[in-house]
Amino acid sequence: MTSLDPRAPLVLDTRELGRRPGSQLETVRTEPAPAELGIEVLHVPEGSPVELDLRLEAVMEGVLVSGSATAGLVGECARCLEPIEDDITVRFQELFVYDDTRHDPSDEDLDDEVSRLEDDLLDLEPLLRDAVVLALPFQPLCREDCPGLCVECGARLADDPDHAHEEQIDPRWAGLTALSEQDLQDPSTTD
Ligand SMILES: [Zn+2]
Ligand SMILES: [Zn+2]
Repeated sequence: MTSLDPRAPLVLDTRELGRRPGSQLETVRTEPAPAELGIEVLHVPEGSPVELDLRLEAVMEGVLVSGSATAGLVGECARCLEPIEDDITVRFQELFVYDDTRHDPSDEDLDDEVSRLEDDLLDLEPLLRDAVVLALPFQPLCREDCPGLCVECGARLADDPDHAHEEQIDPRWAGLTALSEQDLQDPSTTD
């Protein structure tokens, strides 16, 4: 197990709680985002500010961490590839168990999933990462009804809703289309 760096931005020191059940600590801080926070198409840029509002509470088995994180997101629309900028607020709660706590052997299967304190330090990063990833849409869109790209030429249809290609018109109808266009341009010829 690699030991935690107490100076790392997302490592919290719980010693102040003194392992006294019921003691609490509230902290509001802004920390730089770790790398790869989010998914490829939508993520928090590395180093950008993450606002954390945290409450640490000592309980019998460890320290209960609850709070929220707010950060900016960048990504691209899954349909039209247009850049997206958004922000996200996630809430989380997790119990970090004291590293010297012994467990019932029947709990062994769950053991790997338990978050642990290391020398009274806790790493918020996995918790933040899970909360952010779970909150993100699998297919981010620039707007809910984004029409995507033209399959013919790749043009962004939201910018050009009446987009059409000559080749798509069945040649048998081409004459008719030409006629109706003429009608529209000059109604007097219909008489
Ligand atoms: Zn789009
Ligand atoms: Zn097109």
